[in-house]
Amino acid sequence: MHKNLLETLATVVGRNHVLSGETDISSFTTDWRKQYRGAAVGVVRPASTAEVSAVVRLCTEAGIAIVPQGGNTGLSGGSVPTGKRSEIVLSLARMNRIRQLDALNDTLTAEAGCVLADIQRAASDAGRLFALSLAAEGSCLIGGNLSTNAGGVNVLRYGNTRDQVLGIEAVLPDGRVWDGLRGLRKDNTGYDLKHLFIGAEGTLGVITAAVLKLHPKPTAAATAWIAVENPQRAVELLSHLKKACGDRLTAYELLSRTCVDAVYAHRREIRDPLPGSAWYVLVELGDSGSSDVLHDRLAQALDTSLAANAVLAKNDSESKALWRIRETVPEAQFSNVKHDISVAVSKVPGFIERAGAALKAAFPDAPIYCFGHVGDGNLHYNVGDAALLAARRAQVNRVVYDEVAALQGSISAEHGLGQLKRDEITRHKDPLELELMRSVKRALDPQGLMNPGKVI
Ligand code: FAD
Ligand code: ZN
Repeated sequence: MHKNLLETLATVVGRNHVLSGETDISSFTTDWRKQYRGAAVGVVRPASTAEVSAVVRLCTEAGIAIVPQGGNTGLSGGSVPTGKRSEIVLSLARMNRIRQLDALNDTLTAEAGCVLADIQRAASDAGRLFALSLAAEGSCLIGGNLSTNAGGVNVLRYGNTRDQVLGIEAVLPDGRVWDGLRGLRKDNTGYDLKHLFIGAEGTLGVITAAVLKLHPKPTAAATAWIAVENPQRAVELLSHLKKACGDRLTAYELLSRTCVDAVYAHRREIRDPLPGSAWYVLVELGDSGSSDVLHDRLAQALDTSLAANAVLAKNDSESKALWRIRETVPEAQFSNVKHDISVAVSKVPGFIERAGAALKAAFPDAPIYCFGHVGDGNLHYNVGDAALLAARRAQVNRVVYDEVAALQGSISAEHGLGQLKRDEITRHKDPLELELMRSVKRALDPQGLMNPGKVI
């Protein structure tokens, strides 16, 4: 029966774009961290919205579930099948055209399979900035970014992915195409439906294209690596810089000593710019004159002990070297128990103190790798090492998530729920909110065929 379906799908997308052998599909059925692996009937790679629509319609008629997949860099197991039912992986990678760049409207219309870095480049070639930026940008696809409402390092100034989108095109679970590709900055004509699909992790339909907002390209940037005494100082320094620099402040990343030590051990060629501190902050300011502004503000911060020491990048290559430290953190402490949490920025120091104390009491020998987008109150709070904690992962999660709950935070700041946090979220979300989410899911996907086993 599945063989027939695959043959029919091949008539839609071409024989070369339907894969089914185990070796051909294993990279599509295994997630980036290699924590989730699920069998699939096959992988289908359509090249246009019409093909996506036909594939979805055929699968729905056959009762086969659909797992949309972008770059498969998601960190919550959302992009791979669960293997609990008959599923196909729908790879959007061939839908990689930039359909339009409207310079006067400052918008770019991209298909879901465009690599994020290619969109950034196209915007830059037109003298604009597409503001979304994250370490996976060379391989994640814009459809995946939208579907996870990705965050990254520029949220402080420009907002999440959700804030970069003016319109979307989506294929509904019954195969109909919703053309919502409007490039309007004002449109108060009822429910803003695009926001249902953004962050839905493929559970409501397939995003096939989007109208993205472009910004003026910053004319200059300044980067500094700053040693701070503790997270409280880091948050006070953030407030000091915000007051002085307003929305020039594009990035504000915190790193614990354990993280930078892991980076230096993992990549011996990376130099430690300021040895000896327990905490560091990586700051970036945009626009002309940023270097002078940052220099003056850091001098003040050093005088008032907000900062303990600081290095200002003198040129682009020094800036890149500082960013490389931050960007190497994920791969340098790959196998540990990971969390992607957020609390109010003012509560970040309290969270780090409380969670640290609770973990030390329960797991005295487990190192904590704490880093992330502190300007957004978002920490990647990882507890190692996996071998030590393999059997106690759930207990580690409980300790961390209880502290998040005590501070009214979120257990998923930017990576989504996927399979990883699908059960845990029911402990945290208001039952009424969960009921509303289930109602939306039932209304759009009554057969439950869109990415089953994820989110709710
Ligand atoms: P995938 O992993 O393929 O899919 C993610 C989810 O979206 C799945 O549920 C999938 O079913 C769904 N989906 C994908 N495409 C579509 C579509 N067209 N229509 C409907 N549903 C779809 N994330 C951040 O937010 N901030 C970071 O700073 C960050 N840093 C990272 C660093 C590294 C080294 C890595 C490996 C990952 C990082 N991530 C980060 C996570 C990941 O890159 C993002 O979640 C990204 O947005 C996923 O894009 P993708 O194309 O790989 O999507
Ligand atoms: Zn992140």
